[in-house]
Amino acid sequence: MKQYHIWTIGCQMNKADSDQVANYLRRAGFRQAETAEEADLVLLNSCVVREHAEVKVVNRLNSLKVLKKSRPDITIALTGCMVDSRIDDLKRRFPWVDLFFRPQQWEVLSGWGESRGLPGMDQGEDSVPHNPPVSAYVPIMHGCDSFCSYCVVPYRRGKARSRDLDEIRCQVQNLVQRGAKEVVLLGQIVDAYGHDLPSKPDLADLLTAVNGIEGLLRIRFLTSHPNYMSHKLIRAVADLSKVCEHISLPIQAGDNGVLEAMKRGYTTEEYGELVEHIRRIVPNVALSTDVIVGFPGETAEQFASTMDVLRQTRFDKVHIAAYSPRPETSATKNLRDDISFEEKETRRAQVEAMQNIIAAEINAGFLGRTVEVLVEDQKRGKWYGRTRGDKLVFFVGRAGMIGQLASVRIEKTSAFALQGTLE
Ligand code: SAM
Ligand code: SF4
Repeated sequence: MKQYHIWTIGCQMNKADSDQVANYLRRAGFRQAETAEEADLVLLNSCVVREHAEVKVVNRLNSLKVLKKSRPDITIALTGCMVDSRIDDLKRRFPWVDLFFRPQQWEVLSGWGESRGLPGMDQGEDSVPHNPPVSAYVPIMHGCDSFCSYCVVPYRRGKARSRDLDEIRCQVQNLVQRGAKEVVLLGQIVDAYGHDLPSKPDLADLLTAVNGIEGLLRIRFLTSHPNYMSHKLIRAVADLSKVCEHISLPIQAGDNGVLEAMKRGYTTEEYGELVEHIRRIVPNVALSTDVIVGFPGETAEQFASTMDVLRQTRFDKVHIAAYSPRPETSATKNLRDDISFEEKETRRAQVEAMQNIIAAEINAGFLGRTVEVLVEDQKRGKWYGRTRGDKLVFFVGRAGMIGQLASVRIEKTSAFALQGTLE
């Protein structure tokens, strides 16, 4: 039996794409190999959102050069955001790679399979895995039209394209029939879902449709943009029983000058009002955010404003990135990357240290409380899963708990996780 090995880096969208490829290959008779050395097909699913990620991909590609030399029969494939329209450049740089395809360019992979007598890649019911995880990713739209000045995604993933609402509902239904208990609906600006479709459904309509699926326990959605977060959507989070009280709302910076240079399209005041509104309507909501430190020209005062906003807003989680100039983006073309590596690292560490204190304080509030955990798996003798507010919980339980809702009494907390025992 032929074997495949997939290496994935980057966002949830990449993970969802890799799952789809793995599902196709299993249907085509392949089985998963633990290492690239054992595989007949090695796929790298790449990310170039930051230079650090791109360097990792290039290192990985270089290590595969040796493998290809010793086993010329192996197929090496590259997908993800590193693959843009300039495939000839990539072919010149990495001549040992046999197959390049852009995110979602499934016809190329399918054509590769068909040329080897394998079935083509089906986008219908068969694209749903037979053994989905408890929490399954479901991309509901692809691409992005926003062109934030620092971001390479619109150049690599193309214009925003929403999937048909009924098609998504059917996919979720199939996932649930095959064992999934939670779905995470994915989009770069997930709250803009449907704006490009003829009948203009929105994310609240989709959440309502998916909420009605029997057997499904929880629904999440990522990543929201402040400019598209409507009152109707916030109400849907409050009213629909399966939609978790958890919103991922990147702020990126807490200073209006920096936000303008980033072309984010909102001010810190507007962001603050939105958070207040969300917290009024969904009182126990968990909020996470993304922040970039060391954006070109970010002064010490501007960075201090970002720290103030984070301190006041008290997010449950903050994903922190040091600014990384990316080719093609307008920030790279028009602004000088004038904050030193050391200064960016200092700012990143400052945000991290403050956020660890805030998260530890928020999590300490769970001590002695009983929370509902959707059990995902086991690690080092303990079960783990998440609360509706996306808190990671470890606990001692009984056998066979995967996919169940467990009531767990919290006995220990940290900035990163909660621990307890089954009630
Ligand atoms: N669409 C989402 C949004 O609007 O925030 C996030 C998508 S982006 C791929 C994920 C995160 O990577 C961003 O929120 C941002 O914080 C970070 N990011 C993107 N480009 C970056 C860059 N050039 N340097 C540092 N961080 C970057
Ligand atoms: Fe990138 Fe901005 Fe689009 Fe998010 S909204 S993917 S940060 S361009």
